Amino acid sequence: MQIVLATHNPHKVAEFQQITASTRPDLEIIGYDGPEPVEDGVTFAENALLKARAAAAHTGLVALADDSGICVDVLGGSPGVFSAYWAGQKKDAVANLELLLDQLRDIADPHRAAHFTSAIALVTPEGAEHVVVGEWPGRLAHTATGGGGFGYDPIFIPDGQPAGEERTVGDFTAEEKQAQSHRARAFMELGPLLAQL
Ligand code: IMP
Repeated sequence: MQIVLATHNPHKVAEFQQITASTRPDLEIIGYDGPEPVEDGVTFAENALLKARAAAAHTGLVALADDSGICVDVLGGSPGVFSAYWAGQKKDAVANLELLLDQLRDIADPHRAAHFTSAIALVTPEGAEHVVVGEWPGRLAHTATGGGGFGYDPIFIPDGQPAGEERTVGDFTAEEKQAQSHRARAFMELGPLLAQL
């Protein structure tokens, strides 16, 4: 079954393809190059729905859309839905993470808690709508490391790693990230809904 993924971000398409390849190989995730709506929602769920509705209407296919970002406790949950634009409208991933590191420069590890959030919306051409959410808890590193992933991956240290061996997601393999990421967790929640299609 073909499902259109309402994103122009090739990293997200690749990650969804990797996640579904191991969990739902019968699904074919295809990219979307149609018009994108203005993301004027103030929650991840609202923005995910806006994107999935637009793609379902444009393609006539079942559409999935992920809206995601990093939420830092000491910043009251920001950057949150502004993650892509934290350092300005240019969507510059390096400038975004450098600004965040600079803002937390004097903050010690116990206060650097953060999580990635992914809201995934599923919209059918008939108008059925669902949203699921996945979170990946961790903390912010003090410097960027690794060349893997995208966005804030080089400065995010997921919880649950052996003491003394902690790495950022930038140092993870794609398989390691897709086994535990916020997007994979949200996708697991989606399982029963996808099974009904
Ligand atoms: P969106 O494409 O409008 O949902 O914006 C998501 C933004 O959040 C991206 O530009 C990244 O900065 C950040 N983000 C979301 N998911 C991830 C991830 O898995 N790793 C690193 N950064 C992410």
